[in-house]
Amino acid sequence: MHKFTVLVVEDEKNICDFISKVLTSHDYRVSCASTGKEALSLASSLCPDIILLDLGLPDLDGIEVIQKIRSWSGNPIIVISARTLEDDKVQALDAGADDYLTKPFGTSELLARIRTSLRHSNKISGNGLPQHPYRAKGLEIDFFKRNITVNGQAIHLTPIEYKIVAFLAQNSGKVMTYSAVMNNVWGPYAESDNKILRVNMANIRRKLENNPAQPIYIFTEVGVGYRMVDEDIL
Ligand code: CA
Repeated sequence: MHKFTVLVVEDEKNICDFISKVLTSHDYRVSCASTGKEALSLASSLCPDIILLDLGLPDLDGIEVIQKIRSWSGNPIIVISARTLEDDKVQALDAGADDYLTKPFGTSELLARIRTSLRHSNKISGNGLPQHPYRAKGLEIDFFKRNITVNGQAIHLTPIEYKIVAFLAQNSGKVMTYSAVMNNVWGPYAESDNKILRVNMANIRRKLENNPAQPIYIFTEVGVGYRMVDEDIL
């Protein structure tokens, strides 16, 4: 069986040991780096399937490490950070990280995030569309027909609303920053103000969610962006 290789970049030895132990016992192959430079060198020599990256490293800034790796590799990077500031998360995601975990985090959360990121990196087909419809909690999106149903009932979205939902669904389980959504829907010259996105999201929730105040499909990560519920595991 092919084991996935995880590169853990973390300068605190006890955290690194903890993550290694958890991942090894779940059949991952794990390597550790304790500095940014070591991370860059192992990222290229090991070709890990996924990288877990602490932002606070002794030599390089974590954001710089993400940018360097992103310049040649599309493999998932999950940021692990004690930083609770939303700006840091946004910066990391916009630099190319796929997701983040805030310390302290639980074992099941760590494993779930890794599974989600690995699944995403393997499922996008040649035309950029997912090969299968998105299905979660009664919501179904057929990306080829551009149909959305909730419990079998057709949902009528405007083209802009559809683009937002499809983009979030294609990245389900991962947080997408406001600017990533804005860029995808309105292009790189979109206004930097998120108001138009928030207005569209309110309309989307009114159409999709049973109770828009307590969404079950699209969650807000305050100050960061939106996360769409991960697909049902079949
Ligand atoms: Ca650190």
